[in-house]
Amino acid sequence: MENRRTSASEQLKGGGAVLPRGSALSDVDRLEAVVATVSGDAQFLVDGDGTVLVCNPAASSLTGVPGATIVGSNVASRIGLDGDQDLGDLLCSGRIGDVASGWVVGVEGRSEPVEVVVGRHHAMEGTVYVLSVRSVRDRLLREAELVRRATHDPLTGLPNRSLLLQHLELAIGRSSRVELGPAILFLDLDRFKRINDSLGHNAGDELLVSVARRLESCSRPGDLVARIGGDEFVVLCDGLTSAQAVGRMARRIVHSLDEPFTAGSIDVRLSTSVGVAMADRSTGAEGASDLLAQADEAMYRAKENGGGRFAFYDREISDQAIQKLHLEAELERGISNGELVLHYQPIYEVTGGQLTGVEALVRWQHPHRGLVQPLEFIPVAEDTGMIFALGEWVLEEACRQLLAWDRSGSRPIVMSVNLSPRQLVEADIPATVGRLLSTSGVSADRLQLEITEDVMLESSGPALVALNELRQIGVGIAIDDFGTGYSSLSYLRDLPVTVLKLDRCFIEGLGTDPQASSVVAAMISLAHSFGLTAVAEGVETRTQLQALRFLDCDLAQGFFLQRPKPPDDIVELLRT
Ligand code: C2E
Ligand code: MG
Ligand code: MG
Repeated sequence: MENRRTSASEQLKGGGAVLPRGSALSDVDRLEAVVATVSGDAQFLVDGDGTVLVCNPAASSLTGVPGATIVGSNVASRIGLDGDQDLGDLLCSGRIGDVASGWVVGVEGRSEPVEVVVGRHHAMEGTVYVLSVRSVRDRLLREAELVRRATHDPLTGLPNRSLLLQHLELAIGRSSRVELGPAILFLDLDRFKRINDSLGHNAGDELLVSVARRLESCSRPGDLVARIGGDEFVVLCDGLTSAQAVGRMARRIVHSLDEPFTAGSIDVRLSTSVGVAMADRSTGAEGASDLLAQADEAMYRAKENGGGRFAFYDREISDQAIQKLHLEAELERGISNGELVLHYQPIYEVTGGQLTGVEALVRWQHPHRGLVQPLEFIPVAEDTGMIFALGEWVLEEACRQLLAWDRSGSRPIVMSVNLSPRQLVEADIPATVGRLLSTSGVSADRLQLEITEDVMLESSGPALVALNELRQIGVGIAIDDFGTGYSSLSYLRDLPVTVLKLDRCFIEGLGTDPQASSVVAAMISLAHSFGLTAVAEGVETRTQLQALRFLDCDLAQGFFLQRPKPPDDIVELLRT
């Protein structure tokens, strides 16, 4: 017995520590308690308050702190229990021998997962506890590796069908409140078997790994790419906001897999069919497996149609999305082929009848479809970011035209150009405008930019900064379609606006609907009280024009006065 005590005492000295003589327990009691539990585990002998009285060398290695520092400190500052368990409660509860899971503040502050077992000893001076603490990091890593093997494809390292279904189920659950839930893109490589048979299985495997990497590189952060069968992959996308965005993703995948791969030393071309299903309420898919089955079905349709393409599960969505994507591709081509043109709608003084300016309105001179109106392609340009190139072209062309009219000896007029909210927020419009004005020599007060009220929602952000810079340059700022958007008018006070363009829907009832007249009257006086010019949009009748004259509106534009016209027709009007 005596020998055992001595050897335990020596063990403690090898890196562990004890409280100095005179503290609550006698050495004998301390060693008694420790000896009883000497093992490879870290040991902390603590009193009822959790103060460490003794610890062994393993405790020091586990925490990375010298024993002398541990002793005297409270054990709760180093060991925590998982969940809402409390170490103090564990000591008091008397659940001696229970294994609790927790963590230790380990070497360099790293959290070390551990198991804690409490032993209790009745010493002369009171009850003491021995906490035996064992790191479970290696065990957890082994378990995690087993889970990984069960949920991942060994060849590509991608999640397998089971993990995909788990993630999909979660994503569907999360999406119960949003209109468009997760989308899945089910891919099957076209004629892969033939490639496998002709090049051999090793090359086939190499190709599948390359496909996996390429899919990962064209997916977004947060998307899940899974391999669910021989040459079948699934991309799970969450958070896409429209069928069009999903279609764009599918197109990107089809195109990306269209690029040649290398297997061994030869170039191989693959093509892929993609079936798309969305957990949209209208498709009525119940769960993850249903959705997967829908995407599978759509994939077969893509294959039947020749492969190397995608198809939506829902035919109607498929047709619309494909049409929109077609329009996108066409517009991109149209812009670079110089198919955009500007028409100009004259703006007149209401009282004097003088032509004071024009609004530039973009059209797309499509080689087969004729003149396409902006409402059909501006939203597409905004969605895809083509609006930046388009908008810059419009600004440039409008300035060029203004100079051309000036050179022909026409009366100077103001040119109004529409800006999309994205342009104002994301493109450096002040720089573009500044550059255009200085290279063309057009004076700033001849240019007016029209923005819609939506931009005002961001009245404190980059839009406001850009507007202020534009105002400093000296160009006019008009609020377009006024009255149809954001309801708070406080922005009129805060923003550097010069013109209000009253939306056509208010002008419509003028002269026939008394309420319309009072609304328009209020808008005009609002504009005047802020020192702004009031412009009526969409004047279609003489009665409306007369009413505007009576209400003291400054300017007007509309089909009754002139429709938007090609530049040559405007020259005629400027001469008269
Ligand atoms: P907006 O800026 O409010 O332009 C006025 C629209 O009303 C024009 O349609 C014009 O043709 C139409 N309009 C003018 N007078 C009348 C009328 O008396 N009756 C009726 N029913 N309509 C009239 P448009 O050219 O189809 O343009 C539609 C919208 O497309 C524009 O509305 C503007 O928001 C946008 N847009 C046009 N060109 C551009 C551009 O270059 N850039 C940007 N970002 N948007 C543009
Ligand atoms: Mg406009
Ligand atoms: Mg308008």
